[in-house]
Amino acid sequence: MNIHESEKIAGTLRAMGYVECDDENQADVIVFNTCCIRDNAEKRALGNIGAFKHLKKANPNMILAVVGCMTQQDGAGLNLRQKYPYVDIVLGTNNLAELENAINKLKNTGKKSVLIDQNENPQVLEGEKKYRTSGCNAWLNIMYGCNNFCTYCIVPYVRGRERSRKMVNVLDEFRRLIDEGYKEITLLGQNVNSYGHDLNDGSNFAKLLEEISKIDGKHRVRFMTSHPKDLNRDVIDIIANSKSICNNIHLPIQSGSNKILNLMNRHYTREYYLDTVEAIKEKIPNCGITTDLMVGFPYEEEADFQDTLDIVRRVKYSSAFTFVYSIRKGTKAALMPQVPPEVSKDRITRLIAEQNKITKMLSKEYEGNVYEVLCEDKAPKRVGYVCGRTDSGRLVTFKGDEQLIGQFVNVKIDKSQSASLFGSLVEE
Ligand code: SAH
Ligand code: SF4
Repeated sequence: MNIHESEKIAGTLRAMGYVECDDENQADVIVFNTCCIRDNAEKRALGNIGAFKHLKKANPNMILAVVGCMTQQDGAGLNLRQKYPYVDIVLGTNNLAELENAINKLKNTGKKSVLIDQNENPQVLEGEKKYRTSGCNAWLNIMYGCNNFCTYCIVPYVRGRERSRKMVNVLDEFRRLIDEGYKEITLLGQNVNSYGHDLNDGSNFAKLLEEISKIDGKHRVRFMTSHPKDLNRDVIDIIANSKSICNNIHLPIQSGSNKILNLMNRHYTREYYLDTVEAIKEKIPNCGITTDLMVGFPYEEEADFQDTLDIVRRVKYSSAFTFVYSIRKGTKAALMPQVPPEVSKDRITRLIAEQNKITKMLSKEYEGNVYEVLCEDKAPKRVGYVCGRTDSGRLVTFKGDEQLIGQFVNVKIDKSQSASLFGSLVEE
């Protein structure tokens, strides 16, 4: 979501005539796109902004802007203005479209801008300029905001309520991306399964996927994120029957303990979640299931943590994002009794070790088999090698020419190393 938002910022700047540069000393404009989902993301953003003070001093004409969800928190605008007075422009998540005006105003009048619109239901924008930076992969927003108010999460406060783009606009953009040659499109939303509910025109996620499935051509579709309470059997069936929708579902469970899920306001139980996973595995064999897991949520005891480990062992995720719970001011969980940091640290270490074992075991199962891989990029740090993903979402590195980037190729997996797969091209 944030990467794509940055692509929109870059699109606006390019349309104004700016070009990308990789040396900050040369930059005329620097925009920090911030995130406040966890404390460390916020600290990093503030650290980076602080580190640019000297640049601004050396080059007072340089324009410094801070945007993104960090700015949207209560009192953040004022705080930024006081602590970082050299920042020229602060825009909230609903004010990104005002970047061009704010830059022009600063250049023409010297006036700074702090624009943070607190409206929870801002209008859904269409036709934003985008400068895409992810090779043959493209991101596509289908909706914005979130209604779920998980008790740990800041997103509903900084991104407002669920707003879906009209289906015709999503399909239009999808077709355009395919015409432009993109090979993999990832549909984005905080909870894609609620897509369309706010439109009141009969649209829903299953229908959207069905329409997308009908679009001709050789390409892949992924989506994130699915909330386990809303991923229904219709969607599972459509994925199972679609050629273009990847066999890959990101299904964040957060915790394996019913007590903790309830305290988190997640609206499902471990049993309900496991039923969904069973339905996925039955209908979509070889589906790569990934998840988000959190440890150290208030009231989490060792027995709750054991329930999380148990889920990890049962589901066998191909990979998992693991987080230590981080207090977010203004959320309900911030008022609950907190777990000591050393306990959380111990749990996250054990959780990562357990998941690594599973990832390694699943990787072994790929060895010796041939998979269709979308070649996406040069391999990092390996000259003469390229990399791409299987339909299930696993990253494969193989010897090959850069000309393969953007093509579907068959790759035999020769060996695996924890999460990484290494293979060789199978000639047609
Ligand atoms: N909308 C998505 C996730 C958005 S945030 C969903 O519901 O699944 C991505 C992940 O960050 C979450 O799944 C959660 O695991 C993690 N996260 C969110 N708030 C957090 C917090 N306060 N502390 C630690 N991790 C958090
Ligand atoms: Fe946050 Fe929950 Fe909404 Fe995801 S569903 S963005 S975790 S409140």
